[in-house]
Amino acid sequence: MQLKRRDFLKATAGGGLLLAAQGPVAALAHKEKKALAPNAVGILYDSTLCVGCMACMAGCKQANNMPVETTDMLARWDNPPDLSAKTLNVIKRYIDGNGLNKDQETDGYGFIKRHCMHCLDPSCVSACPVSALQKDPDNGVVSYDKNACIGCRYCQIACPFNIPKFEWHSAFPKIFKCELCRHILQKGGISGCCSSCPTGASIFGPVDELLTEAKRRLTLAPGLHDTFPVNAMGAGRNTKYNSQKVGHYVPHIYGENEVGGTQVLLLAGIPFGKLGMPDLPEESFVSLADGIQYAIYKGMAYPLIVLGALVYMISKGESPKE
Ligand code: SF4
Ligand code: SF4
Ligand code: SF4
Repeated sequence: MQLKRRDFLKATAGGGLLLAAQGPVAALAHKEKKALAPNAVGILYDSTLCVGCMACMAGCKQANNMPVETTDMLARWDNPPDLSAKTLNVIKRYIDGNGLNKDQETDGYGFIKRHCMHCLDPSCVSACPVSALQKDPDNGVVSYDKNACIGCRYCQIACPFNIPKFEWHSAFPKIFKCELCRHILQKGGISGCCSSCPTGASIFGPVDELLTEAKRRLTLAPGLHDTFPVNAMGAGRNTKYNSQKVGHYVPHIYGENEVGGTQVLLLAGIPFGKLGMPDLPEESFVSLADGIQYAIYKGMAYPLIVLGALVYMISKGESPKE
C-alpha cells in the first residue's frame, strides 16, 4: 500500500517529535516490525456477534469511573457520537438503504467498537515529548500518566486511529484514552467492556490466542452454528462458550498488520472502510517517520557539511573560494 498524504502528515507529526527527542542519529536506524510483548493481552471484537446493546460502553464507564455524557437521545443512534474525555469506548452503527439485513453492506446494518488499539509500535508513545504515554514491556498495554502530561496534544495528532481525546473544558486539561483497564488487569481481572459483553462479541485474552481464534472464525461456514468464547479466553481462564450462527466475514483481520499490528483485533461482515476504520499501511507510523527522517537526513547531510565548512572558513577569515 502506498503512503498517503494523511499518513505522511501523521508519520511526520509523530516522527518530528521523535527526531527532536532522540536526535538525527537515532533516526538513521530503520525499524523492523515490533514483536508482541511476552505476555501481550488484548481484545478481539467480532462485529458479526455484536447486537449493539452498548453494555460494553456502560461496563467501560463503570470500570473506569467515568461520568455520564449528556447527548441528544433523539438526534441519532450513536450516542454519544464519538470518543471524548468522558467516553473511552463507543459502539458506532453502520446503516445502508432499508437497513434490514445484519452485517450486509447494501440494505444492511452493522456495528463497530472504537477505542485504543494498543498498537505494537504506538506513534502516540513516540510523539509524546515527556513519556506520559508508555507501552508496557510485559503485556503491551499503552498507558497514560496524567502527572507527566504537559497537554501538548502531540499524541492526538500522531494517533492513526484518532483515539486520544483532550479535556477541553478543564483548566488543567488531560488526555483520555482506553488503557485496557490496566488497573483491573493488575488484580487478575479482565477489561470492563469484555466482562460486560453478553454475546462474546468482545473477548479479552492473550493476543496470539485471539489471533488464532480470529483466523479460525474466518474458516467457518457461514450460516452454520459453532461455539464462540464469551468474555475471555486463554490459559487459566474458565472460558464460557456460546453456540452462535456463523456470520459472513470479510476476509480481513483488522489490526493484524495495520500500522505494524495492534493488540486489539477486529472482525466484521461489512468492509472496515464502510465501518469507519481508516485504511492504513502495514508499516507503523514510527517506522515510516524514521524512513522519512532518514531520507531527509541523508539529503541534508552533505549541504550541512559544506555550509559548516563555509561558516568555519569565513569565521577564520579565509576565502570561501579557496
Ligand atoms: S491507537 Fe492511538 S492512542 Fe492507541 S496505542 Fe495506537 S497510537 Fe496510541
Ligand atoms: S478495555 Fe477498559 S477502558 Fe478500554 S474500552 Fe474496554 S472497558 Fe473501556
Ligand atoms: S456489549 Fe458486546 S454485543 Fe453489546 S454492543 Fe458491546 S460488543 Fe456489542
